[in-house]
Amino acid sequence: MRIVVIGGGQAGASVVSKLRGLGFEGDILLFSGENEPPYERPPLSKKHLLQEAPGTPVPVLPAEFWQENHVDLRLETIVDGIDPKGCSIRVGPDRVQFDHLVLATGSSARRLPFEDTRHCKNLFHLRNLTDANNLHAQLEPGKAMVLIGGGYIGMELAATARMRGLKTTVIEREERILKRVASPELSGHIADWHREQGVSVIEAAGPFRLSGKTVVDGVQLGNGTGIPADIIVAGIGAVPNTELAQVAGLSLDNGIAVDSFGRTSEPNIWAAGDCAAFVFEGRRIRLESVQNAIDQAETVAENILGANREYTPTPTFWSEQFDHLVQIAGLYEPDMISVCRKSASGISYWHYKGDMLKAVEVVDDPKTFSVARRLLSDGKSPSPELVSSAERNLKEILKATRKAAAA
Ligand SMILES: Cc1cc2nc3c(=O)[nH]c(=O)nc-3n(C[C@H](O)[C@H](O)[C@H](O)COP(=O)(O)OP(=O)(O)OC[C@H]3O[C@@H](n4cnc5c(N)ncnc54)[C@H](O)[C@@H]3O)c2cc1C
Repeated sequence: MRIVVIGGGQAGASVVSKLRGLGFEGDILLFSGENEPPYERPPLSKKHLLQEAPGTPVPVLPAEFWQENHVDLRLETIVDGIDPKGCSIRVGPDRVQFDHLVLATGSSARRLPFEDTRHCKNLFHLRNLTDANNLHAQLEPGKAMVLIGGGYIGMELAATARMRGLKTTVIEREERILKRVASPELSGHIADWHREQGVSVIEAAGPFRLSGKTVVDGVQLGNGTGIPADIIVAGIGAVPNTELAQVAGLSLDNGIAVDSFGRTSEPNIWAAGDCAAFVFEGRRIRLESVQNAIDQAETVAENILGANREYTPTPTFWSEQFDHLVQIAGLYEPDMISVCRKSASGISYWHYKGDMLKAVEVVDDPKTFSVARRLLSDGKSPSPELVSSAERNLKEILKATRKAAAA
């Protein structure tokens, strides 16, 4: 049997390593558009840019893995097309046959809608190592960096740039940063850290335009305010890489549509990671996180080998900004009821739909996070009163919740 994987990111690497881990001995080919073996993207907005010299990327798998495990890793090789009926992919003039195909094509940085400044050389995006190295070359103390978009990548970059001594401004169109992915409480915390460190965070900025021709020299807000900039970074989200799937006629729905096993609309074509859209609690979603890329890819590997296992994740994400660690499990929604828990090291927000715990956001408190995540994965809900009580420690919360669930 031959399994072909398209995409050499976290999901592509995870599917391959799981297949070999499960004892699959057939052919595996992995095609990657990049010139490095799969590497971790999270450091690109953090440690990679904090260092004086850009350094080398952190590999997802040890360098010797590929040869030792007889995986045919084809770097700098873009797959041009898929023929689902003929069970082959097209790479330049060649055709490569597969028994199973895994799409792990990830996502790309969303571009700003302005045509006139599209090619300005000081306008950056951050998705891969090349982007990070290009940006690294610009990070000189005293320069003014404007980040368009207060999502996680934008806020991480703002923190990193500030720590490198740049004058940093974040422009967020919505009334608060991280509106799509975090509770108002967490957004507030993160905005406060940035402001305390001297980052200018402009929320509810509304429509804006970039000024300049070959170089963007600033951002003009709708209210007439002009913000000068030496460097502009657009961090306005990611779009799934679905072109191959679309041309091949696979079903799309906010990404490459997969069933609960990770299978696309073609029985021997699978998808995992940022590009894959699956049904979670009644709605089709994509998760852009390392944990999802790993877990979904591993489920796909198991299912290719016949496990028939459904993917039922506890969505998990982390972010590091300044010296703070944010960890999130579950998906926050605005109509949830939230309670706060304080500990010696940090703070957490527990979000409920009715009596059910649905999401937890934890700041600087990994112990609380690990308990909260376990409760969420087990589908157990401690009462809000228990969670918010300063007198009850984590062990007591776990014990009382298990006891109540067993009763
Ligand atoms: C700067 C940054 C910081 C992040 N920080 C965090 C964090 O702190 N915590 C967290 O949980 N997540 C974070 N993420 C998100 C996380 O890294 C992604 O969710 C994860 O990498 C997704 O993995 P993937 O394999 O699905 O896609 P990707 O990592 O995007 O990999 C897809 C690969 O497919 C290749 N490809 C696409 N099309 C083709 C083709 N036709 N032929 C060949 N190759 C192709 C691409 O070149 C790419 O190498 C961050 C992401 C970025 C960019």
